[in-house]
Formats: sequence, C-alpha cells, structure tokens
Amino acid sequence: MDIIDERLAVIQPLNKFWYQKKVTALDMLRLDRIHPVISGNKWFKLRLNMKYATEHNFKTIVTFGGGFSNHLIATAFTARKFGLASVGIVRGKYDRLTPTLKACRDEGMELIFVTKEDYKDRHEPDWANELVRHFDEILFVPEGGANEWGRAGAALLNRFVSSDYTHVITAVGSGTTLAGLRNGLPIEQQMLGLVPMKGGDYLQHNIAVHLHEGKDKNWQLIDDYHFGGFGKWNKELLRFMNDFYTENKIPLDIVYTSKMMYGVHQMLLNNDFSVSDRILCIHSGGLQGNNSIQNELIYSDNSAS
Ligand SMILES: *Cc1c(COP(=O)(O)O)cnc(C)c1O
Repeated sequence: MDIIDERLAVIQPLNKFWYQKKVTALDMLRLDRIHPVISGNKWFKLRLNMKYATEHNFKTIVTFGGGFSNHLIATAFTARKFGLASVGIVRGKYDRLTPTLKACRDEGMELIFVTKEDYKDRHEPDWANELVRHFDEILFVPEGGANEWGRAGAALLNRFVSSDYTHVITAVGSGTTLAGLRNGLPIEQQMLGLVPMKGGDYLQHNIAVHLHEGKDKNWQLIDDYHFGGFGKWNKELLRFMNDFYTENKIPLDIVYTSKMMYGVHQMLLNNDFSVSDRILCIHSGGLQGNNSIQNELIYSDNSAS
C-alpha cells in the first residue's frame, strides 16, 4: 500500500555545535517527513492494524483520543485510504471543534463525544460497543494504537536503525513505539524513552509486559523533563523549540519531541553519555498538534523542513 513513501524518513545529523562534541554522532530519524497528515510513529502503529482489518473484512475502525490527538487524525486518514469507515470516541465535550477534530471530520471520521468521566470506561467492551452499535463489522483500535499490531508495526522501524548506533531515543506516550522497537532492535543497542507526563511510573510495567523473551533489558524511561505534565509547556520549552529549529532546521512538536530533545540536551550537558556514543533520536512527528500554539512559532506550518 503506497499511501506514504517511507523512504522520505531520512536520517539527519544534528548540527555539531548543538551537541558540542559530547558524543560522536547525534542524528534524528525524520519520521515527521513521511506525510503531512499521518506523520511520525502513528503510521507505523496503524499500518498493520489496517492491513489486518481489510484482510479480515472489517468495515469500521473505532478508536479513542483527545481533541488534539495525533492518533485520531492519523486513524481517520489511514482508514479512509484503506477504504474503511472510522469512528473517533473523543474525550470531553467541545463547543467548537479543534483544528484536529475538524480535520478528522473532513477525513470522514464520525465523532462521538463523551465526558472525561465516561471516557475512563473506554476499556470496557460493553460500554464502547453500545456507543457504536449502529456501525458494521467493527475493529476497535486502542488509544494510541497500543496493541499487538501497533507494536509489530513499530518494530519495523528497526530498518532505519543501523547497527552503528549505541543508543536509540524516543518519546513515550503509551509506550507502544518503545516496546515495539525494543523487540525489533538488537539487544546491544540501548533504548531511552523520554516521558512527557508526570507520574509515568505505570509505563514501566506496561512496556515490560510486552517485551519478547530476552528483550527486557537495555531500556530505560526518563521522566525528569515533563514540564508540569502532559500537554503542559512554558516559555523556556518554547524558546528551546524555536532555537532548535534555528540551529538544526528541524521543527519539533510541543507535546512530545520538544520535551524529548530538551531532555537529551540536558543529558548532554550533564555528561550522561560517553564521547564514543552514537545516538539516534526518533522524530515521531506530531507537528499538527502545534496548531494550538501557531502564533508562538518561528516557522508557520507543518511543511517546514
Ligand atoms: C503518539 C506520539 C508519541 C507516543 O508514542 P507511543 O507509541 O504511544 O509511546 C510520541 N511522539 C509523538 C509525536 C506522538 O504523536
């Protein structure tokens, strides 16, 4: 399925000035470049879910997310390309659609709004089934694409990671990308997951239970750089993100990748790496989420390269 051209995911070395010779190489895998709408890790987590759905005659994909969710818009877009209907169960009631939700609707996604309270029941099959009972042949995909197909798709990212890298760094939401890629990479390569939320301890367990035999080592979560919690940011992070663009010509998103690179920068300053290390940071996309802070950015759209 040539919906997107994965060859667009280039590896871009960061400006040497930026990492000050603290390590031997620091590169970024530009998954944000693969497509303006389904950019980043979301395509990899969805592709095998969609393949499974079409091969098994499912007609509707039902999934879950918030008003700025990268996963929702990626699902809406991908489902349509695969000829499937899509339904998004949205956390919270909105007087006006966010740009993300509007884009979902434009892709043909049906939106069902539920209160934040009710959204907590999303793992209950009865509750979800009742909400979507008028749709046909439903395949439920969990929030963030966090299922077996999501992890198997993320494992395919290993093709971009040469064995020269000593460390692979990714941002963590559900932990699906980290778990999948840990399974997909040789065990000698260290994985670090930068966590953009407060109290992400539960992730440790969620990831560990999905690792294949022999893969539950050489990975670590770092949750020191959450800036107050998921989706929270301040002027310092914004300044960092704009400076990063100036120095590397790479746009970051405010929710995941800017906190990840901020953390990596602090770790370099703290001499947490060895000079011989070769690091690959995964740009997991998410730039559409920046439409909530458009006026604060020095670059104006998602096509900045
Ligand atoms: C969803 C998302 C993540 C988190 O991925 P998980 O597989 O859920 O851990 C990281 N970065 C971006 C930009 C995302 O949109």
